[in-house]
Amino acid sequence: MAANVMEIYGSKVFNEHVMKERLPSATYKSLKNTLHKGAPLDIEVANVVASVMKRWAMELGATHYTHWFQPLTGITSEKHDGFVSPVGDGTAIMEFSGKELVRGEPDASSFPSGGLRATCEARGYTAWDPTSYAFVKDDVLCIPTAFVSYTGEALDKKTPLLRSMNALSNQAIRILKLFGKDVDYVSTTVGPEQEYFLIKKEDYEARQDLILTGRTLFGAPSAKGQELEEHYFGVIRPEVSEFMKDLDEELWKLGIPAKTKHNEVAPCQHELAPIFDTTNVAIDHNLLTMEMMKKIAPKYGLVCLQHEKPFEGVNGSGKHNNWSMSTTHENLLDPGDTPMENLQFLVFLAAVIKAVDEYADLLRTSVATPGNDHRLGANEAPPAIISIFVGEELEAVIDAIASDSPYAGPVKMKMDLGVDVLPKFSKDTTDRNRTSPFAFTGNKFEFRMPGSAENLSDANTILNTAVAKELKGYADELEGAEDFTSAVIALVKRTIRDHRRVIFNGNGYTAEWEEEAAKRGLPNKKNTPAALPALIAPKNIQLMEEFGVLTKVEMESRYEVEMEHYSKIINIEALTMLEMARKQLLPAVNSYMSELANTAASKLAVSENISVRSETKTLTKLSADADAMSDAIDTLQDAVDATKALPSEADKAVAFHDNVLPAMDALRAAADDAETICGEDYWPLPSYSKMLYYV
Ligand code: ADP
Ligand code: MG
Repeated sequence: MAANVMEIYGSKVFNEHVMKERLPSATYKSLKNTLHKGAPLDIEVANVVASVMKRWAMELGATHYTHWFQPLTGITSEKHDGFVSPVGDGTAIMEFSGKELVRGEPDASSFPSGGLRATCEARGYTAWDPTSYAFVKDDVLCIPTAFVSYTGEALDKKTPLLRSMNALSNQAIRILKLFGKDVDYVSTTVGPEQEYFLIKKEDYEARQDLILTGRTLFGAPSAKGQELEEHYFGVIRPEVSEFMKDLDEELWKLGIPAKTKHNEVAPCQHELAPIFDTTNVAIDHNLLTMEMMKKIAPKYGLVCLQHEKPFEGVNGSGKHNNWSMSTTHENLLDPGDTPMENLQFLVFLAAVIKAVDEYADLLRTSVATPGNDHRLGANEAPPAIISIFVGEELEAVIDAIASDSPYAGPVKMKMDLGVDVLPKFSKDTTDRNRTSPFAFTGNKFEFRMPGSAENLSDANTILNTAVAKELKGYADELEGAEDFTSAVIALVKRTIRDHRRVIFNGNGYTAEWEEEAAKRGLPNKKNTPAALPALIAPKNIQLMEEFGVLTKVEMESRYEVEMEHYSKIINIEALTMLEMARKQLLPAVNSYMSELANTAASKLAVSENISVRSETKTLTKLSADADAMSDAIDTLQDAVDATKALPSEADKAVAFHDNVLPAMDALRAAADDAETICGEDYWPLPSYSKMLYYV
């Protein structure tokens, strides 16, 4: 097996190894220049690359190519074009030009643009992102691309991400220069941990809610929940294990370094973590991983659920975003071994702390989705309040710096940064807190708020840009300093004093923290419509414009798209509930009641002395549930109709949250109660215990 893995790894990827082997050396050199220095690609070079790429892809069975991109829906899009090109004599040749490689023109009008189309033309084009390798999937050569309008507005998730990576790099380079280091580029790195559920295909197919919305809109709790805590890291079911092996192999072929797999806390919940990579590549890979999970599961009779909360009452799924910054040979969030390395580490750490405090509201928008609303603030996921966990050791260091007092932590050292060395933060001491939304884990930060279904581009775009902003402020200040070391220490001290409020090492799940956070003035936006307006707050627009990441118009378009998306999702959920309740659940309750009533009547016909107490009791309860369901159906329908009639997208989103969701909850409560009473043969939906505890 080991040899085989090495053989298949990256076998479907047009990576540097393939390029070096197949491209003429001059072409390879100019492509590398583009890859590593962002130099524009000459069309002659592109023609050569395209022709070599085509031949390589055809050897792997490809007949088509596609520009693979990420519109504002967050999911990937592809339109397949054949290489085939007929020639006059009735035969055909296979063609793929440099122009087709570097630029595509999908019709932009059917993708969400949030009003951007009103200000520019409907037309957009895709442009090759050569830093993310092309690959072959399903007989199609896929070329990772950015998607922009003809007037240059970003119509996708990748463009602002790439811009933010450059912004951070430019500012980090300035800081490193002050520490005597000359580097070309600082990349941000991401390792996304993907959680997901696997359930039986036959159960999935029997539930319209799962098919249409990705989550169960009805379902009484199973007698057994996750209280036995037996699933986490438990033995993996044989069919799940087969699925995981197959998945690993397909991912390895695509050059995706899938590394860790295990069972998660909830029954049927699992996780896959790859080895981290440059942010844009890691995100492309994460999206491919999600796609492969969905594709491969049915081969094993399973369906992969990537919704943040497929089942009420059991843990939801997240996607921890492990993040750091690094040069080709140095992780900038590693405390290092020498005093100067420590000082440099403290500067980058301070920049992250300041960025997260100042732009917490903006960062919150990046994880605000209708699905994730079920997670944030529920008892298994971080709260909606953003705070930073640094661990006891580092907190002691930080406190010592801020208060000019000697460091009194477990490792003996003076806080004279010119002499002593910070302790190495072991993973054990920093990784204990699982309730923090933003935790320092030894040499990286782990942003735990993103939901399992999310495209991580938004979160990283915002994080990178906010950190770039703080690094810029620092560089401006330090470049003019007379005594560099004391200026750095003063700056770190000031940052920590000013932003101490965002650091919290306690339990983030408690009510006390919510109170305490309010006292500290930390924002706490509990749902998507409440969180999203931060996208158009002047200070946030200013940030994005300052670094050329997003313009005001682009920010406004994203706000529109996200608000509208929220309403669309809740609307689909509400309509699905109405249909299921009217067509499946009420009829089921009625049939069972009729069966009970018939039984009672038949019994009484035989003899009036036979007891019908059980039938009467059950009928009374079920009848009350049926009435409650019927009333809740009317209320929900009215709420949906009234909400849809509202004038603005913002009003609609707020009303979907404030008025429609509670009506959905009421309908569910009545139906779930009926489920616990109704005969099993009558209830049309697979139950939670059947879905989650299958054998
Ligand atoms: P766990 O959180 O499961 O204990 P780790 O903390 O080792 O495991 O890693 C979690 C994820 O963080 C992995 O995807 C790993 O590759 C990633 N990671 C490790 N170092 C970095 C880094 N410098 N930048 C970004 N991600 C990283
Ligand atoms: Mg982790």
